[in-house]
Amino acid sequence: MNSQQKELHYKIENRTSKKRWHDWKWQLAHSVRDIGTLQKLLGITLSKKQASRIKQTLSKFPMSVTPYYLSLINIEDPENDPVFKQSVPSISELTINSYDMADPLAEDKDKPVEGITHRYPDRVLFLVSNTCSMYCRHCTRKRKVGDIDFIPTKATIKKGIDYIKNTPAIRDILLSGGDPFLLQDSYIDWILTELKKIPHIEIIRIGTRTPVVLPYRITNQLIKVLKKHRDIPLWINTHFNHPRELTASAREALAKLADAGIPLGNQTVLLAGINDCLRIMKTLVHKLVQNRVRPYYIYQCDMSEGLDHFRTPVGKGIEIIEGLIGHTSGLAVPTYVIDAPGGGGKIPVMPNYLISWSTNKVILRNYEGVITTYKEPDSYEAIFCDRKCAGCRLQLQLEGASEYKSTGIANLIDDYDTTISLTPKTNERAKRRKKYASR
Ligand SMILES: *Cc1c(COP(=O)(O)O)cnc(C)c1O
Repeated sequence: MNSQQKELHYKIENRTSKKRWHDWKWQLAHSVRDIGTLQKLLGITLSKKQASRIKQTLSKFPMSVTPYYLSLINIEDPENDPVFKQSVPSISELTINSYDMADPLAEDKDKPVEGITHRYPDRVLFLVSNTCSMYCRHCTRKRKVGDIDFIPTKATIKKGIDYIKNTPAIRDILLSGGDPFLLQDSYIDWILTELKKIPHIEIIRIGTRTPVVLPYRITNQLIKVLKKHRDIPLWINTHFNHPRELTASAREALAKLADAGIPLGNQTVLLAGINDCLRIMKTLVHKLVQNRVRPYYIYQCDMSEGLDHFRTPVGKGIEIIEGLIGHTSGLAVPTYVIDAPGGGGKIPVMPNYLISWSTNKVILRNYEGVITTYKEPDSYEAIFCDRKCAGCRLQLQLEGASEYKSTGIANLIDDYDTTISLTPKTNERAKRRKKYASR
């Protein structure tokens, strides 16, 4: 415990009481949910106007911050503090633009059963928890935060598990929420036990922000539960947004998970006024790999209601990626993605490296601005894919592999399929054609 944390503890409990700072349940029980407590604990006084604005915001979007995460705030300059900005409401959250959406990713539309979003062919998002240790101001599922109607019951989870059981195409499950690590150990154990029984499940991923906002949740007992399920590959993705969040406690939590043999990834959200800076992002990704965490995604901030003030132009993200690729370890460079409004899924966005092309040469540029040519092979014997892998000289030799079927753009590229174009449903010309045909 550092001095700021000791002081916070004294303010919450009296000086003689037993120090329970490292107990995650104590942290949750003392999460700060109102503006009076916030000011008292931080020892700051907000202007009347600001306090009333925060109260106004609280009536729509609740607040909850763990004492631990609160202790990371630099009280000399709270308003510009990245931790403060991620955890304390701002009146800007009440600004709703015409294009903002309650559910921009249409997660509730691609939902075969409660709690499951089945968007991609082989993997599902499974919301198993409704609570979080901290309510991120930039949460894309803001509509659900603190809403007791969304608490998944055991029966709901069972239905989700049954859906997965009955859908053999699913090979990868992402447990999310809310935060799955806010569930009790025994409950996590039960979910993993049930999922593991499904023969077509190859990997399970857990998305959790506890290493960032409640690192004490990563207890030896939890590690024991996770290790118990080592026979199925478990991957954990966490959510660090700023290098300041990689404290000694956070690093210890990450080390415990990595030592348990769990591969770790990180998903960052690009946030105006918090991390929209190449130097911050570079420091962040370096610190992550130093702690055995592979930067996985940088997300463009979603168009959810109440997030407008956090959004940056896409150019900011491209600028950051431009400053990372080549300049630092490839291992430290995440994929920058925009999660398509309306439910199209994640779309990677990159600077352009391929600058021109001829029949036998491609012209590329590197991170230094060097322009180079890559001469393509004089002869290349393309293999016509008739989708009969058994007779193919490439020897896939996968026993029992199901027939390969392509979709989307891959379908256009495919040798086997005769589709030559994709046409939007609303295309007027296509509608006219249909009309002529029916005459
Ligand atoms: C992000 C996401 C996934 C997983 O995507 P990956 O690119 O495989 O990490 C799956 N389903 C939904 C609905 C998602 O939003």
